Amino acid sequence: MKLIDTHCHLTFDPLAEDVPAVIERSRAAGVAGWITVGTHLEDSRKAVELAAQYENMYATVGIHPHDAKDGNTDALNELRRLAQGEKVVAIGETGLDFHYNLSKVPDQKRVFAAHLEIAGELGLPVVVHCREAFDETMEILDQHGRGLKGVVFHCFSGSVEQAQEVLDRGYHVSFTGVVTFENAEATREAARAIPLEKLMVETDCPYMSPEPVRKQKPNEPALMVHTARFLAQLKGVSLDDLAQATTETAVRFFHLEQPGRGDA
Ligand SMILES: [Zn+2]
Ligand SMILES: [Zn+2]
Repeated sequence: MKLIDTHCHLTFDPLAEDVPAVIERSRAAGVAGWITVGTHLEDSRKAVELAAQYENMYATVGIHPHDAKDGNTDALNELRRLAQGEKVVAIGETGLDFHYNLSKVPDQKRVFAAHLEIAGELGLPVVVHCREAFDETMEILDQHGRGLKGVVFHCFSGSVEQAQEVLDRGYHVSFTGVVTFENAEATREAARAIPLEKLMVETDCPYMSPEPVRKQKPNEPALMVHTARFLAQLKGVSLDDLAQATTETAVRFFHLEQPGRGDA
């Protein structure tokens, strides 16, 4: 079994303090590929540097909606430059977060649109963070995201209707441990409705450990097997089949090399 953690923050403490051990535990658990996601300029730089050091590790570069207030022209130009790095496989995470509103809404919208333009220019897919801002997120994607290589709604926690809107546009969806939470029935309903070939798995670690290890902190890629097993049951397939399908989807979506090819 080979799973890929399609959205983790290995540059965040406390994971960043001991990445070799985190990676070793991950491999032992069957999670053999990682996409470490940038959330602001400095973090994106760190993600690129980290990915350069590990086989089957990739980076994305982006300015999270929380940090959109820092997304001035210079920052966006630097992001564009970083995005051309060898192991950078997507732009993001970017999007809208009206739950915390740590940056003003107009800044969030402007910086999200700018990310979509950069992704279009460079032919890269986009990792979208959307919290309590579904309609506005779709609106900006419709206006600025035409012809993009790919769009994934990460940490999906929307309804089945919203999932349908996402699928109708040809976008992908990825699930964190949230889908295992007792109060997440709507998310499970959405997961049931999403075809396996449109679905990916992620930790979003160090946050959001899945059940039954929800109390274990920090979350880390090794724990993603719990989410994968849960999704396999939900979809009525074996864990191996789910791993194979979601890994193929991730490889295709992010244009990765096949992880672990050649070893048993
Ligand atoms: Zn996010
Ligand atoms: Zn994230």
